[in-house]
Amino acid sequence: MSARRPLVAGNWKMHKTVGEALGLVNSLLALLPGEPTEPLETEIVVCPPFTALWPCAQRLAHDARVRLGAQDVFWETEGAYTGAVSPRMLADAGCAYVIVGHSERRAIFRETDEEAARKAAAAAKEGLHVIFCVGETLEERDADRTREVVARQLAALWAALPAPPGGGAAPGLSVAYEPVWAIGTGRAARPEDAAEVAGWIRESAAAAWGRAAAEALRVLYGGSVSPENAAPFLQRPELDGALVGGKSLDARAFAAIVAAARDDELQGRAARA
Ligand code: PEP
Repeated sequence: MSARRPLVAGNWKMHKTVGEALGLVNSLLALLPGEPTEPLETEIVVCPPFTALWPCAQRLAHDARVRLGAQDVFWETEGAYTGAVSPRMLADAGCAYVIVGHSERRAIFRETDEEAARKAAAAAKEGLHVIFCVGETLEERDADRTREVVARQLAALWAALPAPPGGGAAPGLSVAYEPVWAIGTGRAARPEDAAEVAGWIRESAAAAWGRAAAEALRVLYGGSVSPENAAPFLQRPELDGALVGGKSLDARAFAAIVAAARDDELQGRAARA
C-alpha cells in the first residue's frame, strides 16, 4: 500500500469577515508546530468563504504549513453566470484546494450528483485539488442504503473525471465520507463504520480507475469531528484525514485535531505502509 499523506481540512462555511478570517489564520499558525518554511507531515487546509480567500492567501503565502481552499466552485471558466466563481478565479486567488459536493450544497442549493461531478472535473482540470464529499442522509442510513447512495454519488464522479494516465496514482482528488446526519449535530459516526464506508469508496475507485489509483486516493471522514473524538478516526488505516466543520472555527480545537493526525501511531502506520 502506498503511504498516503494525512490531510486535515477546515470548512469554515458562511463564517468570518475578512478581519475575523485573518485573525483565525494567525491564531492557527501560532499554535502549529514546526517552522513556517517547512510543510508538516500532515497537510493542513483551511477553506474560508470566498470574500476572505485573497487576504488569507496573502498571509499563507508566507507559511508552508497551511494551504488554502474554497468551499465551492462553478464549472465554467467565465461568462454570464451571476454569482458564480470559476476554477481559474480560485487558482488566481491563491487556492490549491476546493470542496465540492458538500451535503449543504446538495440539500440547500439542490445540487445534483452530475453537477457536483462536473464541478469536480472542471476544478481538477484547472489543477485544484478536489475534496469531493459523499454521504447518506439518516433516512437512507436507516433504510440500509448507505453503500448504494455513496456508489451513486461516486459513479457520477468517475464518469466526469478522466482516469489517471497509465492507471497510476489518482490526480488531485480526495473523497470525504460525510454522513449527513453527523454534520453539525455533535453525533459522529463510529470510526469502524466510517472505515467500512472508506473501504467501499476505495473499491469503487479501484473498479473505475484500477488498484494503484485507488490505493493512492485519500479518503477522509467528516461529521462532528472534535479534539476529543479525532484520534480513533485518524488512526484507522482506511482513513487518511478529516474534513472538519464547526471545530475548524476554533484555532485551538483545529490545531488539536491536526495534532491527533500526527501522533506516533499514525506516523508508525505511514512508515509501515
Ligand atoms: C462539514 O461541514 O463538512 C462538517 C464535517 O461539519 P461538522 O464538523 O461541524 O460536523
